[in-house]
Amino acid sequence: MGMLWRTTRMFFFLALFFLWRATAFPHTMETRQPFSIGNLTVEPGKTGSGWLRVPEKDGVGTALPVTVIHGAAKGKCLALVAGVHGYEYPPILALYRLRDMVNPQTLSGTLILVHIANLPAFQKRIIYYNPYDWKNLNRVFPGQAEGTLSQRIAYVLTEEVIKKCDYLIDLHCGDGNEALIPYTYWMISGDKNLDEATKHMALAFGISPIIIDESRSKDITDSRYLGNTAILLGKPAITTESGYLGKTDEESVSRNVSGILGVMRLVQMIEGKAASPFEPVWIDKYEVVYSKTDGLFFPRTKMGYYVHKGQLVGLTTDYFGNVKEELRAPFSGIILYIINTPPTNVGEPLYEVGRPKEERGGSPEKK
Ligand SMILES: [Zn+2]
Repeated sequence: MGMLWRTTRMFFFLALFFLWRATAFPHTMETRQPFSIGNLTVEPGKTGSGWLRVPEKDGVGTALPVTVIHGAAKGKCLALVAGVHGYEYPPILALYRLRDMVNPQTLSGTLILVHIANLPAFQKRIIYYNPYDWKNLNRVFPGQAEGTLSQRIAYVLTEEVIKKCDYLIDLHCGDGNEALIPYTYWMISGDKNLDEATKHMALAFGISPIIIDESRSKDITDSRYLGNTAILLGKPAITTESGYLGKTDEESVSRNVSGILGVMRLVQMIEGKAASPFEPVWIDKYEVVYSKTDGLFFPRTKMGYYVHKGQLVGLTTDYFGNVKEELRAPFSGIILYIINTPPTNVGEPLYEVGRPKEERGGSPEKK
């Protein structure tokens, strides 16, 4: 009995002591820790940049330029990844602009900016692929620690960026050969809360149309895409597209910046109300049409145009100019992107058609 009393009394005084500590020095209990990624450590209220190393194998390695803006106040961690495709410039330029714009003293939470996720592709000015293994970085997630260079980049991004953030935006645009209208992928996970969070992110980014994308793998060992990997690890994420054909136009860059700021307001990292809700065009069905030909592609329509089912969208020819395929619209919808430079190869995308949800197969003239 005496023993029990002494133990109880000890716990009572311990509890009193911690209560006193918590009320007497509230700031010491809430001291904001530095944020670390790779070898880079950034103190609260500071912006810091450095290299995220991707280890060498067979003499080939790389490092990714990253910036951490670590807000003075606590809050969510938002990861922004540009340059997964190295010829997609407006998102890359938008992140440099953001680095100068965001004041860590007034920021709540932490921004991770991966400036150029596929630096080797950027350096060599290569669309789709990494020049050391000819893989598409956005098809090899979650990556492999001992894999090829693309797989190792994916692995580092999974471990150091996805696992450390609360939210993620994978920022894309039309690649160097793609004429593309702006749109966002809302990837459906099947988890109601997660899907609600990602829907709000897509709306806060502010681009219409939004693709309702139910096609992504639910298997984390074969997640393939950066955004999908984040979602399968429970982190709300969207994939955005703004920019086209290797251009650096102001409209595409600023659309990326304002979209990011919209999501930052949504998750309360900066002051200000989230943009007033808007009703985007929802795309409930989409299809990418791939080439069966090595040769040339000749588009017969343009990005953003509405095509009817069966309408001629483009032609492929061999290297002698003989027509090999007549490509048609698989259903009526909008041309989200279409290849706008001559080269085409077997298995590569030619165009993507998206069906607006409200249309239900009707034509815009009938509305
Ligand atoms: Zn891309």
